[in-house]
Amino acid sequence: MSTSSLGATDELAVPPVGPAPVVAEIRHGRWGDIWRAISRNRKALVGVLVMLLFVVLAIFPGQIAPYDGQAEIFQPALPPSWHHLFGTTAYGQDIFSQVVWGTRLSLVIALAVGALATGLAVLVGVSAGYLGGGTDGFLSLVTDVILVLPIFPLIIVIAAYEKNAGLLTLVVVLGVLGWSYGARQLRSQTLSLRRRDFLESALVRGERKSYVILHEILPTMTSLIVATFLGAAIYAVLTAAGLQFIGLGDPNSQSWGTMLYWAQNNEALFAGMPLWAIAPGVCIALLGAAFALLNYAFDEISSPALRVRKLERARFPKAEPPPPSEPVVAVDKAVLKVENLSVAYATDGGPVIAVDHVDLELARGEFLAIVGESGCGKSTLLYAIARLLGSPLPGEIVGGRVLFQGRDLVLLEERELRRVRWRDLSVVMQSAMNALNPVLTVAEQMRDACEAHSNMSKKEIEARSRELLKLVSIDPVHLHSYPHQLSGGMRQRAMIAMALLFTPDLVIMDEPTSALDVVAQRSLMVQIKELQEQLGFAVIFVTHDMSLVSHFSDRLLVMYAGQVAELAETRDLFDRPLHPYSQGLLGAFPSLQGPKVRLVGIPGSPPDLASPPAGCRFAPRCPRAEARCTAAEVPLYSVNGSLVRCVLHERAQ
Ligand code: SF4
Repeated sequence: MSTSSLGATDELAVPPVGPAPVVAEIRHGRWGDIWRAISRNRKALVGVLVMLLFVVLAIFPGQIAPYDGQAEIFQPALPPSWHHLFGTTAYGQDIFSQVVWGTRLSLVIALAVGALATGLAVLVGVSAGYLGGGTDGFLSLVTDVILVLPIFPLIIVIAAYEKNAGLLTLVVVLGVLGWSYGARQLRSQTLSLRRRDFLESALVRGERKSYVILHEILPTMTSLIVATFLGAAIYAVLTAAGLQFIGLGDPNSQSWGTMLYWAQNNEALFAGMPLWAIAPGVCIALLGAAFALLNYAFDEISSPALRVRKLERARFPKAEPPPPSEPVVAVDKAVLKVENLSVAYATDGGPVIAVDHVDLELARGEFLAIVGESGCGKSTLLYAIARLLGSPLPGEIVGGRVLFQGRDLVLLEERELRRVRWRDLSVVMQSAMNALNPVLTVAEQMRDACEAHSNMSKKEIEARSRELLKLVSIDPVHLHSYPHQLSGGMRQRAMIAMALLFTPDLVIMDEPTSALDVVAQRSLMVQIKELQEQLGFAVIFVTHDMSLVSHFSDRLLVMYAGQVAELAETRDLFDRPLHPYSQGLLGAFPSLQGPKVRLVGIPGSPPDLASPPAGCRFAPRCPRAEARCTAAEVPLYSVNGSLVRCVLHERAQ
């Protein structure tokens, strides 16, 4: 919770003491950044190395090739030897030299066609998507016509008409016919960007459309444009080689395609000159693979979310699983026990522990609220409990147990987890509009959940869905509505109804009210509490708004920098907060009753979890910090039934 969200910060508290988090400013040049990104990505490294090899061959063929590739000066059909690494052709030419000299033309065709096709795709796709209306209609029609044309036969006809087509003809024909697929993708991307706020605000600022396209739209589509270029280059390499192979092109030019043409004409494979055909074929495949690898790698480098980083597991030894016959926890009052749970994210700078040795226990029918500032680890903890971390969400459980209904969820296979999810443990996501599928009605989404977990008939599913909607105060006439036809509050209620389809033991809620106005928030909270008391399920409720849960939760867990700062009965925590951080949070939001008091915020900001401060993590912001706070890790102390991580309560134990 940012202090500003808690209330007005009229004056700063005591300046921070203790060691400030070390923030090293690291400066690298642009080329340094690019090289670091490439060297860390295996696909990029292999792609760049192969591409570099071909570029060097294309630039310096005279220095690398031992002979002139066209010179017919040797004995025909010689086998490979030190003098002729790949042997000689039926005309007495050195095959290795031909491969080296042929690289230049093949590479030039790939790059020139890639550039021409990408330029046309950007021009047509972005103009169609951004300008819309008649322009879009006309350009889309042209794109669609070219898309459905049988390109290869058409190219054969054009190339045959232009007999012995030279480089320019080949590039123009391939480029002009190869842009349509990229244009379609770029148009779709532009359409999705068109209504984004940053484009609207550029127009409001009075920017010209050309400026918006060049400076606002194109930079956001860099990865798609590069992918279009690399895709067009692969297409050019393969198509040009295919055309030259069937004799449509200048047969006297030096390229891998013409090598294949002459090798096939002389039946090289059967006449003892296999490398005449194999070597250019392998080069074409390698160049295509290099473009494809660069394409994948660029996607990952330009989009950090796609990067797969692995945790160094050796740093987090796994606990031995208990014997299968023994239940790991007695199923008694506790519906959930979280023991020593730690979660780490792999980053370029090494693992970052986002949840650090968290313990908590939840009784049946209990309402536990988890509060804290953004980045304190509360949502990560919640996703770890529901086992929703890992692909596609980053993060990995690196220690501890999540005991639910007698089983450790951390050890369950995906198949076993599917049985537990929704029937016994359900999750209500933060933004209902994103969590509900926009193209399916509420009824269809409820039916999907029922069919995945039960053998209910269609009639029973319909009846159960109506019953649940009524339970959350939505008129069942909305059952067949699409999410966009419901208000924000109704969508969130529909999500809750879906979560209760099987009356689970535990419902995990991730800030379900954050997108609602205060009146809707309050009414939804009242409803959640009533449902909980009526149906008896336990709730873990994550929020950054402490005041919201003050009347509804049984206990409150305050998290700070990945650790439990305080865990107490809600009333106790509001009346007598023990941790200076809890006191800071409570002191930062206004009371509607009592005398007017000046609000005091919490100075500073949470620490960087990549290098948390030594000892108490709150020390740099704590007004009561002293030397012993930073001397060693501060454990949780038990004080009158509450748990608090603060040395001030060391003696109260
Ligand atoms: S241990 Fe307690 S007093 Fe010391 S810095 Fe941390 S919160 Fe403040």
